[in-house]
Amino acid sequence: MSVPRVAAPAVPVPGFATNAKLALVEFLLTSIDIQDSARRSIEWLVAHSSVSQAVVLVADAVSNEMVLVADHGVPSSAVVDFSVSRADAMHPLVEALNSPDPVFIEGLISTRYRVPLEGRSFHAIPLRAEERELGQGLLLVNAIGPELDADVVWLGRTLGKQVSRLLSRQSLSETRFGQERMLLYSIINAVTDPILLTDTEGKLIIANSHAEKLFAAPEEASEGWRRAVGLNNMLFSAALSTSAVGMAELARRELLLVDPLEGSDLLFELLSSRAKDERQGTYVVSILRNVTDLARAKEEIEESYRTLRVAQAEVRDERHRLDLIIDSVADPILVTDQEGDIVLMNTPAERLFNVPGVEDEAALRRVQANGANLTSFVSNVLTRSGEQRYRGEIQLADPVSGRPLPVEALAGTILSEQGELMWVVTILHDLTEAIEKARLYEQLKEASQELEQNVQEATAELAEQNELLRRQHIALEQASALKSQFLANMSHEFRTPLNAILGYTHMLLNNVTGQVTDPQRKSLSRIDSNARHLLALINDILDITRIEAGRMPLNITKFGVTELVDEVMSELEPIIRRSNITVESQMRSRLPPLRSDRQKIKQILLNLLSNALKFTPSGSVTMSAAYDARGNQMVMAVRDTGIGIAGEDQSRVFEDFRQLDSSPARGYGGTGLGLSICRRLSVMLGGSIELESQLGKGSTFTLRIPVKVKRR
Ligand code: ADP
Repeated sequence: MSVPRVAAPAVPVPGFATNAKLALVEFLLTSIDIQDSARRSIEWLVAHSSVSQAVVLVADAVSNEMVLVADHGVPSSAVVDFSVSRADAMHPLVEALNSPDPVFIEGLISTRYRVPLEGRSFHAIPLRAEERELGQGLLLVNAIGPELDADVVWLGRTLGKQVSRLLSRQSLSETRFGQERMLLYSIINAVTDPILLTDTEGKLIIANSHAEKLFAAPEEASEGWRRAVGLNNMLFSAALSTSAVGMAELARRELLLVDPLEGSDLLFELLSSRAKDERQGTYVVSILRNVTDLARAKEEIEESYRTLRVAQAEVRDERHRLDLIIDSVADPILVTDQEGDIVLMNTPAERLFNVPGVEDEAALRRVQANGANLTSFVSNVLTRSGEQRYRGEIQLADPVSGRPLPVEALAGTILSEQGELMWVVTILHDLTEAIEKARLYEQLKEASQELEQNVQEATAELAEQNELLRRQHIALEQASALKSQFLANMSHEFRTPLNAILGYTHMLLNNVTGQVTDPQRKSLSRIDSNARHLLALINDILDITRIEAGRMPLNITKFGVTELVDEVMSELEPIIRRSNITVESQMRSRLPPLRSDRQKIKQILLNLLSNALKFTPSGSVTMSAAYDARGNQMVMAVRDTGIGIAGEDQSRVFEDFRQLDSSPARGYGGTGLGLSICRRLSVMLGGSIELESQLGKGSTFTLRIPVKVKRR
């Protein structure tokens, strides 16, 4: 909005220049006011010529100064309180006033002198009544070149006459126009808020310098500046048109403008009100109050308030969390101030230091005693202000039950930034359990020492007994060796007379000493069979004693198992024949030859087979042999369907002299040494004998012998 500073007057239709001139002259003739005349004249000029800026200066006879009475298109800062002394003869305007002809002034004259059309080329046309007379004023118009427009010349002359006429009637000072105008300008310029006087459409009539900065762009303004000014004018007009500004009513609204120089946003409060002037018609006075800083400050205050609220909430949360934390600690926690007064405590602490709800004198006394004990502990901490941590023990009591409560108190001090002691935080830890544990530990230690003592004593006793046993064992071994030795010797001694008995009995039975009668033969047969039994017994005893005394030699030869089994069976052939049972051998083909003691294996097999025949009243007996390649063993078994052996007796049958069911009713005879000898012999050969049996169903004796016996 490049708005003229003074609203365009209602002028005659352009094109009818003469009519317009006549109208102006008519106005001037009737006018009695220099200000009105001057203003009307330059309005006419702006409307009818190429002139866009014009100023009228009139010389005041009293003050001898040229003062500005009307202006158009000139910033108020340039014309406000403008005057120039006529005494200043060197001033280009004074020179122009005194010049007979219009003066063309090109650009800036000198920094010393102020002119209203500062920085521009302009014409200064002296205003006078007649040619050659002294100039009484000046008409300044902007110029493109030195040529002067004929209309400007005409107006200069017309206005000169008018000014001269009016000045002869009234002094300029009398009109007081200049002063009033200057005063008005001074006042509105002194106000720091932008002030604008516009018509009801927002067209600018007067603006103070602060408003100009927002709404007017100087010639040299940059493109951005102009755009900002254009935008501000648009926003302002829009604000005025939308605010319902009633008569003498103050409208108030916010207006966001742009700082043309900075480009930043500026927030204003727009106060506008209508005023009615008889001459000017209705116009709007607007005052803009910059509230940018206010709005920013308000925002900042709101932000600080919000931050404060958040901080308050955080502090509240923090406090809540802290309460939860210290309440969740099972140990009592207390915070005391410099005076030793409790300022904070958790629930476990409350139980010790707060009076219980119920009326209980004893509990009250205990709480007081607890408090006194704590106070004396805290005052100890306070006196040792140099230390950050303090540890001690306090004797408290459970207020309700009265149970003594020894506690360990651990105190820490909290200092202010200045290093002053602010609070003491004390944590109490119940020592009852720890004391009980220590007591139990002591008991345990004593018991353990006692136990150790007992163990040591027992060990010593045991060692003594071991030694005794060892000696007894040696003595027993020696006695056993002696016994074996004795038995071996004695058995030999037994056999010699027995063989003699058998020899003689045999001779008598064979009638060598004459015919024996039947009763004699019967007796002799009894002698023979008893002597044989005794011999078998002696042989068995001899075998055992020889094995025990380590005097049973091994005679290793290579032999076949099948032949050996056949031999065993044929030796027992007479008994087999006499029995009612089936006897057979089951030999695996391709059995490897044995390298072992043939005689001893034969003795074992003979014994097993004769036992089987003896204890099998009916059924069958089977002898078998197989080779176990994995263990490189020969496995020979004697299986019968005889009387069998009860489970509990199965291990006992291998003991010396063990005969099962040894009652006189048993009809099997024997010495009870056979299986014992068999086991000893099999061990000698590096093998073993196993028994599987079921009472009443039969037994199987299995001999396992290494194919190659290892020499001992
Ligand atoms: P004995 O010379 O008395 O037969 P053994 O030592 O050979 O002595 O046998 C001990 C006992 O084992 C026997 O008295 C008998 O009770 C039992 N016994 C041995 N072999 C058999 C068998 N095949 N069936 C049942 N009992 C047996």
